[in-house]
Amino acid sequence: MNPLTPVISPAQIDAVRQLINEAYQVVVLTHMSPDGDAMGSSLAMRHYLEGLGKRVSVVVPNSFPDFLAWLPKANEHIIYESQRQDADALLEQADLVICTDFNDPKRIGALGEKMLSLSCKKMMIDHHLFPADFPDLTISYPACPSTCELVYRLITCLSPLASNLSPEIATCIYTGMMTDTGNFSFNSNYPEMYQIVGELVAAGVNKDEIYNRVFNAYSADRMRLMGYCLYQKMKIFPEHHTALIYLSRKELYRFNFQSGDAEGIVNLPLQIKDVHYSVFMREDKVNPTELALSGGSKTKIKISLRSQGNRPVNVFAKDVFGGGGHANASGGEYYGPLSEAVQRFKDHYREYFTGEVE
Ligand code: 5GP
Ligand code: MN
Repeated sequence: MNPLTPVISPAQIDAVRQLINEAYQVVVLTHMSPDGDAMGSSLAMRHYLEGLGKRVSVVVPNSFPDFLAWLPKANEHIIYESQRQDADALLEQADLVICTDFNDPKRIGALGEKMLSLSCKKMMIDHHLFPADFPDLTISYPACPSTCELVYRLITCLSPLASNLSPEIATCIYTGMMTDTGNFSFNSNYPEMYQIVGELVAAGVNKDEIYNRVFNAYSADRMRLMGYCLYQKMKIFPEHHTALIYLSRKELYRFNFQSGDAEGIVNLPLQIKDVHYSVFMREDKVNPTELALSGGSKTKIKISLRSQGNRPVNVFAKDVFGGGGHANASGGEYYGPLSEAVQRFKDHYREYFTGEVE
C-alpha cells in the first residue's frame, strides 16, 4: 500500500485506539433514512470492531432502503422506531457509542435524546460541516467526500496490514464512497480516491456488482414515479437555472411508494443543460418520535436540494428550511402543508440561487 496523505492526526488516531481498547460493548449509530454512506460507514465500523473481538450492534432511527439490504449484516441493524426496547437495552450496556455520518443528535430524533442521556464514551466520525459538541472524540472532516473514506483512512491507520481489510469491510466502505460521489461523478477528482478504490478492489470488492445492486435495483413503480415526476411535475425556472419537483402523499401512494424510492429523483433535473439547481419536496407523515418538533402539524415536508459547481445550496437549506448539509447536496424539513413549503421556496429561491460564487 502506498501511504495516503495523513488526514486524521496521529493524536486522534491514538485517542481512537484508546477508546476502542477500553470498550467491549459498542453501539454504532447512523442517521435517519440511512443512505449508502450511512449504512456503509456504520457496517464497516461494525465489521472492523468485531474483528477485534468487540460485541457490536448498529442502531438506526428508521428503516433503510431495500437496495442496501444486501450489505453484509445490514439485516441485523436494530431499527429504533420499531425495536426501541432492544435498542435502549443495548445502549444502556454500551461502553462506547460511535456516531457515523451525522453531525448532530437532532439528525437521529428520539435516538439522539437517548444517546445524550448515556454516560458512556462517545465518538463521532463524520464529514458534515459544523459538528455539534457532544462527543468525547470528534473525527470530522467536511472536505472528505464520504464518511466511508474517513473510515477507510481511520481503519488503515489503526491496523496498517492490508490483511486487516476484510472483503466485508471493503465492500461497506466502497458502497458509501460510491454513493456519496454519485458513482465518482462529483467530489471525486483527486488521485488518492482511486488509490483507495484500488486497495478496496484488492481486498475483495466487486465494484461492478455493487454498482448493479445499488443503481440497477429500482422497482417498476419507482421507475414510473420517476417518469411521472419528469413528465408531469417538473417545473423549470429558467432565469434562475432552477428545477422544482414536489409530490403529495396521494401521488406517492399512487406509485406504491417505498422507503428509498425518492432517492436520486432530485438529481435528475441536473441532467438538463442550463439547470444548475434542483429542489425536490415530498410530503411525509410526522412520526411519533418527532411530534415535539412538529408544533402539532401532522405533515412534514422533506426537502432535498442539489446543485452543480460553485453554487452552494446549504445556506438556502439552513435559512429557509432549518436544515443544512453540503454545498452541493443539502436538505431540510418543513412542518405544515406542502403548498406552504412550495410557497416558501418560491418566495426565497431568487435571493439564493444567483449563480456561481467566487
Ligand atoms: P438528502 O437530500 O439526500 O435527504 O440529503 C442530502 C444531505 O443534506 C444530507 O447528506 C445531509 O447532509 C443534508 N440534510 C438533509 N436533510 C437535512 C436536515 O433536515 N437537516 C440538516 N441539517 N441537514 C440535512
Ligand atoms: Mn455521507
